[in-house]
Amino acid sequence: MDIKTVGIVGAGQMGNGIAHVMSLAGYDVMLNDISDDALKAALATIDRNLERQVSRDKISAEEKSAAMGRIQTTQTLTDLGQTDLVIEAATERETVKQAIFEDLLPHLQPHTILTSNTSSISITRLASRTDRPEKFMGFHFMNPVPVMQLVELIRGIATDAETFEACRAVVDKLGKTAATAEDFPAFIVNRILMPMINEAVYTLYEGVGSVQSIDSSMKLGANHPMGPLELADFIGLDTCLAIMNVLHDGLADTKYRPCPLLTKYVEAGWLGRKSQRGFYDYRGDVPVPTR
Ligand code: NAD
Repeated sequence: MDIKTVGIVGAGQMGNGIAHVMSLAGYDVMLNDISDDALKAALATIDRNLERQVSRDKISAEEKSAAMGRIQTTQTLTDLGQTDLVIEAATERETVKQAIFEDLLPHLQPHTILTSNTSSISITRLASRTDRPEKFMGFHFMNPVPVMQLVELIRGIATDAETFEACRAVVDKLGKTAATAEDFPAFIVNRILMPMINEAVYTLYEGVGSVQSIDSSMKLGANHPMGPLELADFIGLDTCLAIMNVLHDGLADTKYRPCPLLTKYVEAGWLGRKSQRGFYDYRGDVPVPTR
């Protein structure tokens, strides 16, 4: 199947990154969000990130302007009906994703492949509520999308081989590497990464170390490029908590219990970088630990 047009639902940090790499690879992109501000911010971010690639001689100025020219934005979800591939990258909440698919389904072409960039929610369950479980799968990019090499491809129980191969061909065209994961809570990357981040929050909660000492320990002692709390702020603490809840509920094992301190930060609206405050406060010139 030949994919030419890609619809992206949600223009947050993942949606804008996906639009960036798709348009640069030559796909026509229709980017949707319920928020006009989010769409404007997404275009500004994509423009800035492409400009950085031009200044580093990674792409030419012509490639940048051609890529920007391939992206259209819309607040009307049904405008995505004519695309060949839809990647849903809205907020990590099952009810939000389900409502998006319900609204979109009557407007889709029969051949359109539906995918979700969910970090953790069951692909099989999302697919079962659509009219095309065989043409539904997980298309999980890593953050920041233009930089990270991996894409996890997750088959639901009903996903057919043609759909999987079509998505794998898209990953190849993006110049990225696909890893295949079975559809179990949080797949591969987050099944391993999130419990580590949650354990770092427990380490803080129990007073074993400060934000600074926990992050320094993992950077200098385990050679991680970012500390786990810094990384949690980068991912978004609401997303981290949502993934821990999916692991806890889906695998029914207390080892995945979300740390109460993580819940407290989310309840405070301290969601990390995107809200200017999380384990660090980003409102000044340099990030300052909040504990
Ligand atoms: P985000 O909060 O930055 O962006 C979410 C966007 O979705 C917002 O702009 C919001 O306005 C929009 N939205 C909400 N409801 C909508 C609707 N009904 N229709 C259209 N748009 C809607 O979140 P994000 O970090 O970009 O995460 C998006 C998805 O990607 C989640 O499923 C998340 O689990 C997944 N993901 C996140 C990361 C990460 O590191 N943040 C990595 C991989 C995958």
